[in-house]
Amino acid sequence: MKYQGSCHCGNIAFEAEGELDKVMECNCSMCMRRGSMLWFIPAADFTLTTPREKLSTYHFNKHVLDHHFCANCGIAPFSEGKDPKGNATVAVNARCVEGFDPQKVEKMFYDGRDK
Ligand SMILES: [Zn+2]
Repeated sequence: MKYQGSCHCGNIAFEAEGELDKVMECNCSMCMRRGSMLWFIPAADFTLTTPREKLSTYHFNKHVLDHHFCANCGIAPFSEGKDPKGNATVAVNARCVEGFDPQKVEKMFYDGRDK
């Protein structure tokens, strides 16, 4: 299935392919503040449909992930990084996906607080 997503103002928009039936909630210092629900997909299944220059990027902790956000509206629609096997992975903020219903997906919990 193909999904559309974006930040609030639309400066950042994307398409993502897969099944959005499971999300991860994490208690690290950023996910807690942001309230994101993460949907991990291979980078190949993710297409940014707006210019890459629109992305602002935040790094923290070990700097292994590029946390992108919109400098205009402040919303953070996705992050880029690698999975433990080294494959390029995108963590989509499921809340930025059109039609996403948080009540209808399985939630996994990740204890990122001390990592
Ligand atoms: Zn925006």
